Amino acid sequence: MIAAALLGVFTWTFLEYVIHRFLGHFPRLRENPFGVEHVRHHIEGSYFAPSWKKLVIGVTFSAILCVPAIAIAGRASGIAYVAGLMGFYGVYELLHLEHVHAGVSAYGRWARRHHFHHHFMNARTNHGVTSPLWDLVFGTYERPTLVTIPRKLCVAWLLDPATNDIRAAYQGTFALKR
Ligand SMILES: [Zn+2]
Ligand SMILES: [Zn+2]
Repeated sequence: MIAAALLGVFTWTFLEYVIHRFLGHFPRLRENPFGVEHVRHHIEGSYFAPSWKKLVIGVTFSAILCVPAIAIAGRASGIAYVAGLMGFYGVYELLHLEHVHAGVSAYGRWARRHHFHHHFMNARTNHGVTSPLWDLVFGTYERPTLVTIPRKLCVAWLLDPATNDIRAAYQGTFALKR
């Protein structure tokens, strides 16, 4: 069951990459419900698709996926696989709140730099959000250097209201686009 749950986690990291890269950014596929929401997320910066849509899709997808998972692996392992996959999808959703909250760990800081590089420097790179694994596998990984952000898209936690510039603690990692 633990192996099945870990396989589910691993499967999510792959889905996260494929969905983001192809349904979110591939020009000919972008006109799908996820792509439309994702383009808006990029344009507006602080926009996230409504939670009810994610819940409906998540529950429907889980129910459908349970059928082949249980048929292949049996009841306990099949459910563990789906739970691992959807549980890590939940982790992804929480991590993506990096737009709204500052990171508190080395991983949190890495994730913000990695994802903001995707948002503000090169949207063809760094499609993985929870890990760089599939970007490394498919050659779309770019190591962020200084991430420059347009002022109107800059997240609140990066800005120092006193100086109206990037907070001193984040300078060298992030800068406003001049
Ligand atoms: Zn984002
Ligand atoms: Zn994107």
